[in-house]
Amino acid sequence: MRSLEDYREIVGDRVISQIHRLASKLYGKHIVHVNSTYQGGGVAEILESLVPLMNDAGLDADWRILHGTPDFFTITKKFHNALQGESINFTEMKKRLYLQANEDFSVYANIDHDCVIVHDPQPLPLIRFYKKRQPWIWRCHVDCSNPNEEVWDYFKNFVLRYDAIIISSEDYRRVNLPVDQRIIHPAIDPLDTKNIELSDSDIEKYLKKFDVPTDKPLITQISRFDKWKDPEGVLNVFKLVKEKVDCRLVLCGSMASDDPEGMKIYEKVRRKAKNLIKNNDVILITSENNILVNALQRTSNVIVQKSQREGFGLTITEALWKGTPVVASSVGGICLQIIDGENGFLLEPNDNRGFADRITQLLKNPNQAKEMGKKGKEIVRKNFLITRLLMDYLILLNDVII
Ligand code: UDP
Repeated sequence: MRSLEDYREIVGDRVISQIHRLASKLYGKHIVHVNSTYQGGGVAEILESLVPLMNDAGLDADWRILHGTPDFFTITKKFHNALQGESINFTEMKKRLYLQANEDFSVYANIDHDCVIVHDPQPLPLIRFYKKRQPWIWRCHVDCSNPNEEVWDYFKNFVLRYDAIIISSEDYRRVNLPVDQRIIHPAIDPLDTKNIELSDSDIEKYLKKFDVPTDKPLITQISRFDKWKDPEGVLNVFKLVKEKVDCRLVLCGSMASDDPEGMKIYEKVRRKAKNLIKNNDVILITSENNILVNALQRTSNVIVQKSQREGFGLTITEALWKGTPVVASSVGGICLQIIDGENGFLLEPNDNRGFADRITQLLKNPNQAKEMGKKGKEIVRKNFLITRLLMDYLILLNDVII
């Protein structure tokens, strides 16, 4: 198990000492994080590192997973989509199933902690099923700048009960919400197997294991198969790039248990790319493997993130940390991480030609790609490492508990 001193070399002694000081009034405080999946997607990724580090800092931090039925996750995915602005047939039946799963979970979740941190919309109503005896914080990882108003108004019934909410960007602040709104940027763990340095032989081994040849330049998007990540759009861009440079595209997307749309989108992409897949020009991967993700992010000439919406985009942080330039949509949390022309390029999400031109430019100019990569790593080191995230949480917990 990693401990705080393991991070000294990367972030310096001052940061580690600051963390210990911030934790000192919180020793023994019992905190619980609640979300709806232990693997797949950015939230699970963060909690996997954050929860052990909170314990190492002296808190008693738990992590509970809401157990939902397939119906529940179908509904909550629709709610998630609506929070990002999509329309929805918002029936009483959906609301009932949503509440029922939370009520059922409340019976055995055993929450009697000093503070409860609820992640994303799935467990948001849990607060309704407890007699509140402690501060509750709702951590919204979604881009909620432009939500479906009907759904947002319904969510507000629960959100108003919370003592604070955390959002990823100033742009997501809700004006008509009289609840303390804090901004905390997500972050990556540099010591996770997904982000540690890999030897050339490890990289080679893992790419071979997943049948990814390295005889041509590689363009990669690592993302759940989700329409908001626009994998079909990436295919269209790839076709344009391929007219100029002979290269290969990898779409790597594991399935998250709280995202029931994944398989459907994957099948759609597979059908659309049938011939390209046959020629090995496009490779689709659905396995969940951290070292493979690490190897792809290190080996790829360009990482693409063509999201239509993106709460933050940890895949970008991960790629930047590895010194790989990213060509991405100028939406949501992506704009916090990429300075256009410095450590990557930003484009309108539907500007396929623009995406293709920038990717081609980077493929043809490896020196420029390398320079951009270096800058990306520094941006992540300063702003988006797990130790900074831990500090932000400790500051907030000091405010709400003490
Ligand atoms: N991820 C992964 N394997 C995959 C696809 C994604 O491990 O095949 C990880 C990715 O490395 C990142 C997280 O899932 O850590 C995705 O987080 P992000 O914020 O980019 O998007 P989200 O899925 O939360 O919308």
